[in-house]
Amino acid sequence: MPTAAYLVRNEVWKCLADFRLPDSLGFGLVAAPVMYSATFEGGQWKQGELLPYGAIEILPGARALHFAEQVFEGMKAYRVGRPAANLFRARDNYLRFKRSAERLAMRPVPQELFLEGIHAVVGACTAFVPDKSGQSLYVRPFLFGTEPGYAVRASTSARFMVIANPSEAYSAGVMKVLIEREQVRAAAGGLGTVKAGANYAASLLASTRAVERGYTVALWLDPTTRQNIEELSGMNLFAVIGDELHTPVLNDSILPGVTRDSLIVLARDSGWRVIERSMAVAELLRQLASGECSEVFACGTAAIVCPISLIGDSDGREYRPGVIDARARELRERLLAIQERRAPDPYGWTSEVIPLVRPDRHGRVGT
Ligand SMILES: *Cc1c(COP(=O)(O)O)cnc(C)c1O
Repeated sequence: MPTAAYLVRNEVWKCLADFRLPDSLGFGLVAAPVMYSATFEGGQWKQGELLPYGAIEILPGARALHFAEQVFEGMKAYRVGRPAANLFRARDNYLRFKRSAERLAMRPVPQELFLEGIHAVVGACTAFVPDKSGQSLYVRPFLFGTEPGYAVRASTSARFMVIANPSEAYSAGVMKVLIEREQVRAAAGGLGTVKAGANYAASLLASTRAVERGYTVALWLDPTTRQNIEELSGMNLFAVIGDELHTPVLNDSILPGVTRDSLIVLARDSGWRVIERSMAVAELLRQLASGECSEVFACGTAAIVCPISLIGDSDGREYRPGVIDARARELRERLLAIQERRAPDPYGWTSEVIPLVRPDRHGRVGT
């Protein structure tokens, strides 16, 4: 980003100086010491600010709390073996964030403001972007309606924030997924194609039950016929069938993942046939039983590519892919090498973040 149009609160410098990365990071458990906040009020965006991470105040009547008027993004900044951090496909996250806001009738955050918030937090936290391969600074931009009231209409005021978490590679290890036959994650034409917190709320009961039955996550079917595979609650799904890579074609209830799209590009460029189609769950289970489907995996920003060792059905039957983490691993390693800028990036997917430097007494930065 060019010059900072946002305000840096004075306490930010002390809290950056005092912050130490703990030895154990986990995923999303350690809060970065600063956050970005900008408010939309009276028909315009106010100047954004960088401030210490901490509790915020909103009115109890805020529509975010009553009507789930909230959308978000998840992205990562990497800094493996380099002084500055870099983002991955930030513009694609922006475009999706904009679509998400529009779907909820919220005023989208302008692209400059979105990037300003992300660059402010990542730039300030450059030293806290853990730098071992697989580690990253997980970045969470979000937008929520702050106007109080029960009239069912969009808020006229909103707040855009960016928080971040120095994180280990998110590892669900090898996942066991349970086909959810009754509930649906998103209605056809509902919020499924956008990143709204409400989708996660809708998924929690099935997720809880899946975990109670010894699985990692629920596998969602399409809301209309419940015959076709859609995705997991926060990850898209791929299957290796014969020599081809198959994934559910995007529809009006699947979330178009940036990782999904990146894997399709990488796989095609390395000569694999990738087929996006409607995937009947009955057919996939047959192909798993016959061995025709050899491998299944899921993908998303947090876990990147995560192998699946078991697919369970509600009738108690279980299906095991013959291969675990072969193609998945190959794709994960290729993608991560680009994300971490260890490999050339012919797609222009990565972009650097200029570290935030404290101005001197004269307000000057640098030499
Ligand atoms: C975020 C998300 C994904 C993964 O998207 P990425 O852009 O790859 O992180 C997949 N499915 C759902 C439901 C999601 O919310």
